[in-house]
Amino acid sequence: MHVLVLGAGQLARMMSLAGAPLNIEISAYDVGSENIVHPLTQHVVGHGLSNAIERADVITAEFEHIPQDILTLCEQSGKFYPSAEAIKTGGDRRIEKALLDKAGVRNANYHVIESREDFDRAIEKVGIPMVLKSALGGYDGKGQWRLKDAAQADCIWQEMAQCIQASETQAIVAEEFVPFGREVSLVGARGKDGSVAVYPLAENVHTQGVLSLSTAISDPELQDQAQAMFSAVAESLDYVGVLALEFFDVDGTLLVNEIAPRVHNSGHWTQQGAETCQFENHLRAVCGLPLGSTKLVRETAMINILGEDTLPQALLAIEGCHIHWYGKEKRAGRKMGHINVCGDYSGELQRKLCELATLLDSDAFPAVHEFAQNFES
Ligand code: ATP
Ligand code: MG
Repeated sequence: MHVLVLGAGQLARMMSLAGAPLNIEISAYDVGSENIVHPLTQHVVGHGLSNAIERADVITAEFEHIPQDILTLCEQSGKFYPSAEAIKTGGDRRIEKALLDKAGVRNANYHVIESREDFDRAIEKVGIPMVLKSALGGYDGKGQWRLKDAAQADCIWQEMAQCIQASETQAIVAEEFVPFGREVSLVGARGKDGSVAVYPLAENVHTQGVLSLSTAISDPELQDQAQAMFSAVAESLDYVGVLALEFFDVDGTLLVNEIAPRVHNSGHWTQQGAETCQFENHLRAVCGLPLGSTKLVRETAMINILGEDTLPQALLAIEGCHIHWYGKEKRAGRKMGHINVCGDYSGELQRKLCELATLLDSDAFPAVHEFAQNFES
């Protein structure tokens, strides 16, 4: 089986690693250069989308900001999963919000802004404080503004107007500020036969808008809520593949923040902590194979390696600690890899995170240090 992934980053790389034992071969299409590359070595193995489509048995995507003409060609081939609609929904906050409403899934109050009048209306309807997000192209907290005081409105409007004018299809989605206690996410898979398998929820810590620490948690009540919303979204998209939902937890009630129609950073812990990892389950789903068990096999946390290309070797001496590098060139803040760390008995994972804090630089891994400080005090 040959699967083509749109996008040639770390997610395609990890799909390739997970697919090999099942004889699923991955090639990656770099949307920018139009090259077909090997997802591990990045060696160019071909060129052009039609060539790539022709060679593939199945086509999927590792990101949602994909030009419409590419999605259309892939969809026309009849090989594309989840679907052009699902990818567009994840890539455009207007469509995403409309879908959540249609599926009856709780989400933050919002208003779409295309003009200054719309902005004034949003301030009335959504209220202050407010979070403003570009409808297209945002990721890792980029393309966002916070309006905390009406006096900032003119200044923020100037920046937003520039963003809107930069593209004909751009707009801003204004959202009420949600006073959440924590953020959690649910990653799960839906098969071609409609079967659904979700992983345990992960609790997520962000540092400067970027995911830094993600820990699988057990909370049956929240899990039920999340699972119901997952099914509602997946069914309304007739989704096939791995899908992620990000939530705000407000005193035990979940609101969906956003969805990602793909394998997700907050699901990387499944490589060590679940019976079947998210990458394998995504491939199983899009290839029409039975889904694998999503059972937690041991408590696991994932730490993102941001902007660093070396780590102390002593990390590998910690039992249950695994490093996953993405083979990328170092850039400030860039996702370079992740660490998965596991514990076998109650309290062991927490103790290992504290041990990691003694080895990891506090500027590069503030979330781990903060965890250790809170745990030890
Ligand atoms: P990513 O790609 O990392 O998921 P993103 O750029 O798509 O991020 P969001 O997930 O929408 O953006 O927002 C980034 C972070 O900003 C959230 O994880 C949350 O911490 C905060 N945030 C977003 N929306 C709100 C809101 N309405 N109220 C309060 N905080 C918010
Ligand atoms: Mg997000």
